[in-house]
Amino acid sequence: MYEFSYYKSGSVEDAVEAMNKAEDGKFVAGGQTMLPTMKHRLASPSDVIDLGGIAELSGISVDGDSVTIGAMTTHAEVAASGDVQAMIPALAQLASGIGDPAVRNQGTLGGSIANNDPAADYPAAVIALGATVKTNKREIAADDFFTGMFETALEDDELITAVSFPKADSAAYMKFENPASRYAIVGVFLAKTGSAVRVGVTGATPCAHRGMRLEEALNSNFSADACDGVEIPVEKMNTDIHASAEYRAHLVKVMTKRAVAACS
Ligand SMILES: Cc1cc2nc3c(=O)[nH]c(=O)nc-3n(C[C@H](O)[C@H](O)[C@H](O)COP(=O)(O)OP(=O)(O)OC[C@H]3O[C@@H](n4cnc5c(N)ncnc54)[C@H](O)[C@@H]3O)c2cc1C
Repeated sequence: MYEFSYYKSGSVEDAVEAMNKAEDGKFVAGGQTMLPTMKHRLASPSDVIDLGGIAELSGISVDGDSVTIGAMTTHAEVAASGDVQAMIPALAQLASGIGDPAVRNQGTLGGSIANNDPAADYPAAVIALGATVKTNKREIAADDFFTGMFETALEDDELITAVSFPKADSAAYMKFENPASRYAIVGVFLAKTGSAVRVGVTGATPCAHRGMRLEEALNSNFSADACDGVEIPVEKMNTDIHASAEYRAHLVKVMTKRAVAACS
């Protein structure tokens, strides 16, 4: 580690003001990514602005057909929430499958989507459910939020306050996970509302994305078999020691078929 200033914020305004005053500030939520990143010197912020004391950033509320989850709400809280289980059970199940208990008790929804790790689970749900990311400045549609590997539409002094997830008629999340970290080698979140299907894919490519070709096939024939004829572009897939591009392309279809079966 190296020297940096630590600031514990009491409110969203306070945190944003501290960020604007900092030379090269970073917000910290549960620190699950931030602290290892700093320890490895992949990031060296001048100021670390802790969001942990801001009560308004935590909690889960239901408003009509949407469930709104505060940015500092932990994965464990989402997994255990009766409201999330009742409104969008697939989202509670997704949260329950992140990492291990230590990660789920510290890691947060806001930290996960702000970090936008290519293998993170939540981005698939945000995309498939057509969620709205709320910040101190504006509301950002899911389709505009994830812009690249570890990149989002957030500005430097922009703080996620909450994410609002609309309820789907049915939804399922299927993940082929790395057995050590439980990050997604490929994860597919499928949401069906009326006859409209949205597919969010994570782990497969450098940035989570909508599976448009799969959506097109499923919108005309909502069956697992409809996925068979869909071409998944291998050249866009990630390749690493865990899985080749070809294997990931195959997994995208398999996970989607399992999600269709779970929603049928
Ligand atoms: C061992 C291990 C296993 C894991 N397994 C999985 C897994 O299976 N699936 C999965 O999806 N994830 C997994 N994770 C990631 C984990 O779940 C966290 O979501 C992730 O590390 C972010 O952590 P955090 O919420 O503590 O954010 P932090 O680490 O505190 O912050 C992460 C980034 O987000 C920014 N940030 C945080 N909050 C906000 C906010 N409200 N507004 C704007 N920017 C913000 C910070 O500035 C920083 O850049 C794993 C992590 C570990 C360490």
